[in-house]
Amino acid sequence: MEKMLDLARSLKCTEIINVRKELTEKSTNRPFKYLLVIDFEATCWNRNDPDRGYSEIIEFPCILYSVEGNKIISYFQQYVMPIENTKLSKFCTELTGISQQTVDNGVPLKTCMMLFLKWLEHIRNKYNVSIGKFVPNNCIFATWSDWDIRNCLKNECRRKQIVLPEIFTKWIDIRALYTKHYMRRPKGLLGALGELGLEFEGRQHCGLDDAKNTAKLVGRMVSEGVILKCTSCL
Ligand code: AMP
Ligand code: MG
Ligand code: MG
Repeated sequence: MEKMLDLARSLKCTEIINVRKELTEKSTNRPFKYLLVIDFEATCWNRNDPDRGYSEIIEFPCILYSVEGNKIISYFQQYVMPIENTKLSKFCTELTGISQQTVDNGVPLKTCMMLFLKWLEHIRNKYNVSIGKFVPNNCIFATWSDWDIRNCLKNECRRKQIVLPEIFTKWIDIRALYTKHYMRRPKGLLGALGELGLEFEGRQHCGLDDAKNTAKLVGRMVSEGVILKCTSCL
């Protein structure tokens, strides 16, 4: 299947891209044992701030969540140093709780990606997690909305000429699954949790806490019959 996907990528033909989508759906049409839940925090500014620029990731968290066990098995968290706009806005620090000192002590995104892949290798060996080219996959990324991978990560990697690892080409948008299953559009992650009678634990807009709470929401959704299927791909 990988060879066919490569062919689809190289030919960039609509028909072949459709075949690719179909293959992606087929390959992910089995229950996932694990999810890798991510929730990036990024530089941001007040709407009218003249200093506003591109979003750069400042916190890169990822949770290994066992769907069967409904529990967190392992996690990765790394603070990231912004390069394009090195100074955080007051708005950003207040929203995320991330200080200037924390990002100054962070690593550039490229280094963070290497550390993340190293952690992935570790969980691959320890828990038999298979994602990306390791087919059949028993794991897929999950995020609250498509923003984290489709906008934030992809665009920043392109601007900084960082190769986006192949594993990031498909994921589950939990918000899309939620909207489809419950037939209502929730008011953010907090709203979705609240509608199912769950509380947000920790600090909102702390990436790690957002990811943990996304996993908590997934646990409830699965128990209410939601099937975890790939919703999005690059
Ligand atoms: P979240 O996962 O909801 O914490 O949001 C991820 C990122 O989106 C944040 O780190 C900010 O860069 C941006 N963001 C979230 N909410 C806002 C907001 N109200 N105004 C501006 N940027 C925001
Ligand atoms: Mg988020
Ligand atoms: Mg967040």
